[in-house]
Amino acid sequence: TADTLDQIQTKDKQTKAFITVAADEAKKQAAAADTQGITADRQLAGIPIAIKDNIITDGILTTAASKILTGFIPVYDATVTSRLKEAGAVLVGKTNMDEFAMGSSTENSYYGPTHNAWDLDRVPGGSSGGSAAAVAAGEVVAALGSDTGGSIRQPAAFNGIFGIKPTYGRVSRWGLIAFGSSLDQIGVLSRRVKDSAIVLQQIAGQDENDDTSLPALVPDYLAAMDGNIKGLRIAIPEEYLGEGVAQGVRDAIEKAVDTLKKLGATVDTVSLPHTKYAVPTYYLIASSEASSNLQRFDGIRYGFRAKDVKNLEDVYVRTRSEGFGDEVKRRIMLGTFSLSAGFYDAYFNKAAKVRHLIQDDFTKVFADYDLIVGPTTPTPAFKIGEKVNDPVTMYMNDILTIPANLAGIPAASVPAGLVDGMPVGLQLMAKPMAEATIFKVADAFE
Ligand code: GLN
Repeated sequence: TADTLDQIQTKDKQTKAFITVAADEAKKQAAAADTQGITADRQLAGIPIAIKDNIITDGILTTAASKILTGFIPVYDATVTSRLKEAGAVLVGKTNMDEFAMGSSTENSYYGPTHNAWDLDRVPGGSSGGSAAAVAAGEVVAALGSDTGGSIRQPAAFNGIFGIKPTYGRVSRWGLIAFGSSLDQIGVLSRRVKDSAIVLQQIAGQDENDDTSLPALVPDYLAAMDGNIKGLRIAIPEEYLGEGVAQGVRDAIEKAVDTLKKLGATVDTVSLPHTKYAVPTYYLIASSEASSNLQRFDGIRYGFRAKDVKNLEDVYVRTRSEGFGDEVKRRIMLGTFSLSAGFYDAYFNKAAKVRHLIQDDFTKVFADYDLIVGPTTPTPAFKIGEKVNDPVTMYMNDILTIPANLAGIPAASVPAGLVDGMPVGLQLMAKPMAEATIFKVADAFE
């Protein structure tokens, strides 16, 4: 923990990965871990971990990178936070992100952008860009992120580290500040695959506070990582190597596929024909759910309240006008429109139907294959400022990560080499609850 705090002190000046560093609290937890030691139920004793700032932490400022949560100090822990503490982990701080997890570059933060650990002029990806940059820069060994449409996998790819979004329902969302409730999942980022497996082992599993968390037992992930992927049936969707994907990225993925074949897997090309509808479908569903979830930020209950207000309506209008950033307002307006009477069938309901077609594409492929692979992103990390004024181009960057969220399946990104000096990721997608397959393959590949 002392070393981690030192690393943060020097390196975070450049990456700006943290919103809050909880140094005093971390030192206390580390001292307690020294006394208690490692036992079977304290697998993370003394291990410093960072947490994305949309996951609530008792007594520690939690902002979701929004002005509207200025000064919000939760009075209880998210389920993942308390599970980490019970396992002995040391919570070193809260990482920067796009406001309310809306974005792909960590530029939409009230606290300013985070910088890519490999090239400070580039974005770290998003929305869990702070978690990814902190891990890649060596500030912390592992960090929690959240992934609604790619927010763990895309920054993991952009920073040359591993990141996993579990099956929807594998990890409790209780205490995660909700964005798109039918899509959100908490997951882990780390340099080594094994470290993510160890952390996920501790946070996964049913939780009575989250009705969407699933009762399935959590298998022993480390035991599954035996290095043997002989005979594994892998599919690569032709839509994931299409025109929008940079040639360098395609080359890196082809090399990765060769490696998987050498390790004994069989690889066939398949089709996920509805991939092209994933981005519009996702932005309607995620924004609709967000418009509903964000109603609670009214200036009464949490954080920031506008000054010199005339009446109650003025509290709401001024607080929200001043407290939310542009991207969040854009999503609230889009989502409210798509849910409104007269437009609901044409937009939200239509998107919900297309979502089923996308899910069916995956179900069909998984009847014959254990794993689907492809690039995590169409390009390596772009420059800070390059896309931030062009939302549609920014949205298109998520085309390869969004389908897994719409389908609810587990997906991860593992480093697959460099393109023009910047890292790219190989994405691994598995059947519902088959995180162990992802860990096994990623570990063998790493
Ligand atoms: N970039 C996507 C968005 O802006 C995904 C974000 C996420 O996964 N939280 O909505």
